[in-house]
Parts: sequence; C-alpha cells; structure tokens
Amino acid sequence: GVDAALARAWVAAVAASVTAHAAELTDLDAAIGDGDHGVNLRRGFDAVVAALATLEADTAGAVLTKTGTTLVSKVGGASGPLYGSLFRALGKTLSDDSSVTTFGAGLRAGLDAIVRLGKAEPGDKTMVDALTPAVAAFEAAAPSGLVAAATAAATAAADGAAATTPLQARKGRASYLGERSVGHQDPGATSTALIFAALADVT
Ligand code: ADP
Ligand code: MG
Ligand code: MG
Repeated sequence: GVDAALARAWVAAVAASVTAHAAELTDLDAAIGDGDHGVNLRRGFDAVVAALATLEADTAGAVLTKTGTTLVSKVGGASGPLYGSLFRALGKTLSDDSSVTTFGAGLRAGLDAIVRLGKAEPGDKTMVDALTPAVAAFEAAAPSGLVAAATAAATAAADGAAATTPLQARKGRASYLGERSVGHQDPGATSTALIFAALADVT
C-alpha cells in the first residue's frame, strides 16, 4: 500500500528530479511563457523538503497535504496553486496506509481540483494534458498493483507531455502567444511527467 514512507520517498524523488531538470523546465517556459517554471518548482520543492523534515505527523495523508499547502504558499507562479491543489486533494483522500485503488481515487481528486481551479480542458496545452492520461492509466492498471499502475501512469504522462508540442495554448501565459505557442512542449505538462516518473522510480 501507500504509506508515509512511500509518500516521503516520492516527494523527495520529485524534489531531486525538479532540481536536476530545473534548467530544462525553465528553457521550455522561456520559449512560450516567462521562463520561471524550473525556478518556481525548485523553490517550491526545496521548501517542501524543509517542511517535511520537521513534520511530526507521519501518515501518507499528512505528508502529501503538507506538500500541497507548502507549494501553494511558496510558489508564486500559476503552477504553485495548481500543483498545491493536486497534492492537497491527494493527501485528503489517503488514510495512513492506503490501497492502490484509493491512491488512484486521490489522483483523480487531484486532477479534478486542478481543473476546478484552472479551468483547462485536455488539448489546451497545459499540465492537464499529461495529468489526464496519467490518472486514467493509473486507474486502469491499479488492479495489477502499485508498480504496474505507477509505471503505466509515468508512460502516459510522458506521452501526454510530448503530445502538447503541436498544440496551440488556450490557458496560461503561453496562450498570449497564440499560434506562436505551437511547436514547443508545455513546461507544466513536462513537470507532470517528472512527477509520475518519480512515482514509478520509488515504487
Ligand atoms: P507562470 O505561468 O505563472 O509563470 P509557471 O511557469 O510555474 O507559472 O507554470 C506554467 C505552467 O502552468 C504551464 O506550462 C501550464 O502547464 C500550467 N498552467 C498555466 N495555467 C494553467 C491552467 N489554467 N490550468 C492548468 N495548467 C495551467
Ligand atoms: Mg512561468
Ligand atoms: Mg511566472
């Protein structure tokens, strides 16, 4: 199941991956946004690592809720409240040692929270384009266990991120570019793929 140790390992792996890919995320955002996505997420996940180091409550739900509230308060860009909502909704769904099915339901609640807040639909060239297929793939593979579900979700998220390249952005800063947003991979969809790759790595 998904317990506090796994939640902590996942968030630590996300933080390491965001650091390793910060320049790449910022370059993608420089092409169609304001060039701060890597910086934003790095600042956010550095703060998450510090917050979790002093967090006494040791349940998966508490760890992921703390991750979400920290991202909301420390990340200035659009991605902070959006990823913050994802982790908070996930944390709220989980009990101490949750089944793979419950974790999938938490991811679904996280996607719903992002859509409620940001109003993006699939095809708008946002993180939703990676998250939507990732959650669906996780749910579909959940009966085969956590490793299978996380692996399927990671593949689907990476494919979803790659598929944003030919799209024209209809939400977020990239939408200001109109047709000039075509031909670049969305930075937020790319970081969503990193988040699921990290989950597959730790399961
Ligand atoms: P900002 O655009 O405020 O500088 P970031 O650069 O950190 O914030 O994040 C940009 C990413 O946020 C985009 O690549 C996109 O994936 C995502 N995003 C922006 N607006 C929305 C939205 N309304 N719904 C979903 N995702 C969005
Ligand atoms: Mg930006
Ligand atoms: Mg910004």
